[in-house]
Amino acid sequence: MNHNLQDNYRAKGLRKHLVDQLRAKGITDEAVLAAINEVPRHVFLDSSFVEQAYQDKAFPIGAGQTISQPSTVAFQTQLLNVERGMKVLEIGTGSGYQACVLASLGAKVFSIERQRNLYFKTKEILDHLPFRVKTFLGDGFEGLPTYQPFDRVIITAGAPSVPTALVEQMKTGGMMVVPIDSPEGNGQLMLRLTKQPDGSLQKEEFGDFKFVPMLRNIGND
Ligand code: SAH
Repeated sequence: MNHNLQDNYRAKGLRKHLVDQLRAKGITDEAVLAAINEVPRHVFLDSSFVEQAYQDKAFPIGAGQTISQPSTVAFQTQLLNVERGMKVLEIGTGSGYQACVLASLGAKVFSIERQRNLYFKTKEILDHLPFRVKTFLGDGFEGLPTYQPFDRVIITAGAPSVPTALVEQMKTGGMMVVPIDSPEGNGQLMLRLTKQPDGSLQKEEFGDFKFVPMLRNIGND
């Protein structure tokens, strides 16, 4: 086993410090902070980046993609209001870090990645970790019709609009947290959408973020 996949005291200490930073940045949900404290972020990065793993920064994970900044992961997770046992669909597995944070909260996580190499690389890492995440190579715009309906949907790439297939796969009362491309084309606006009994969406806005783009179809690009 790659030694980088193991946790250690140094990493645990750095992680506690990261949790303090997130608290200072306004993350208040103790369950979310506990999940950040539990998931070893360094195992999702290449071994030379152990120190940087616990800074509040995004990081390259290969294939032109990034592991989201811890404060963004914590913020999206807090907005999602996950409860133990809920079925959560994640679009954009990437490194697998966000998926493990959700699993650590007791969610049943279904995560889709479109980038083939990244999908296989991350699957290999997740196979060695104690977090229960089901990963799928596919196009997140289509969701997972076979596994619907979901209590929660989280999109971790900048979406051009709200994917209609994903709304259809949400339970009534379910929530989606999604960064939507802003009309000015310089980032995304974080939205939380709650599905009403009549199928319409109640919308809340939570500020500006910067994500890699949500792209169509499986690919190697
Ligand atoms: N949640 C990730 C963040 C990854 S960045 C983490 O914790 O590391 C966003 C990811 O979304 C990238 O890996 C990108 O390849 C993927 N992505 C982009 N468009 C997608 C789509 N249509 N379906 C699934 N994944 C997509």
